[in-house]
Amino acid sequence: MPRKDLLDIAGLERGEIDHLLDQAVPFKELFTRSVKKVPALKGKSVLMLFYEPSTRTHSSFEVAAKRLSADVTNFDVPHSSIVKGESVRETVETLQAMRTDYIIVRHGRSGLPGTIAKMTRASVVNAGDGAHAHPTQALLDAFTIKEKFPDPTGKRVLIVGDILHSRVARSTSTILKKLGLEVAYLGPGSLVPKNGPENIHRFTNYDEAMAWSPDIVYLLRVQMERQEVQYFPSLREYHKLYGVTDERLKAISDKGLYLMHPGPVNRGVELCDAVMDYERTLINDQVENGIAVRMAVLYWLKPGVLGGEA
Ligand code: ASP
Repeated sequence: MPRKDLLDIAGLERGEIDHLLDQAVPFKELFTRSVKKVPALKGKSVLMLFYEPSTRTHSSFEVAAKRLSADVTNFDVPHSSIVKGESVRETVETLQAMRTDYIIVRHGRSGLPGTIAKMTRASVVNAGDGAHAHPTQALLDAFTIKEKFPDPTGKRVLIVGDILHSRVARSTSTILKKLGLEVAYLGPGSLVPKNGPENIHRFTNYDEAMAWSPDIVYLLRVQMERQEVQYFPSLREYHKLYGVTDERLKAISDKGLYLMHPGPVNRGVELCDAVMDYERTLINDQVENGIAVRMAVLYWLKPGVLGGEA
């Protein structure tokens, strides 16, 4: 059964996740053809409503919608009446009057996409809300992992860094647990929350975390913009304690581990330059797969029922 909105991974059933990941496979196959478009959403309109900066998620949704032949409009937040104090409700009513079919929202406030979803008949996709959720990132991460491990049950993923402020950590660990993988967090004690998803191992020491034998090391960006106090002494210190340094990359390579990162990367903080050339770094696969899973999401959602939820 299709849903109206995609707001969070937690609300999705295993069957729905499997369906979206399966559906992304034929969409990805299109990318190698000379014509990369299908007419699935011809005549539909997709509106991008980004209140927070984004490079890859924004362009990924835009490319995904265009490959489905939808019309895409970018709602230019900094130049719109939003800066003149127009409320979110007024903005959504305007979009409703334009008969938009899909609204892709990014906002610094957790839960805002859900509020918008209740106000409109359009399908709403959460493209990241505060530190809360980033469901399409989770789907693309799961898809990328399944390409390397078709049956990922029991595989181990170590998520490293600023867990506290990361919507990626929250959504990606939720999907990985639902798919039967094991997840652990590593980071400074101040950035690894004690509460949160259950059955997640928590480490503050790099060597102890590596002794847990992960198959994939998933690095997070240090979210300076969400840190109102200082959580660790300095970025140099962070790199030394938790970053993938040249020396650690050698050990990672010897063990054949995969490396992932949602981007944007802070080089010299989460990872050293050499990571970008390491053959098991999946960062570019994540970017490419992001388009395929977003196509699958847009194709699956069904606009139209007021007040639907994910
Ligand atoms: N691009 C991801 C996000 O929007 C990760 C990050 O910004 O660190 O959450």
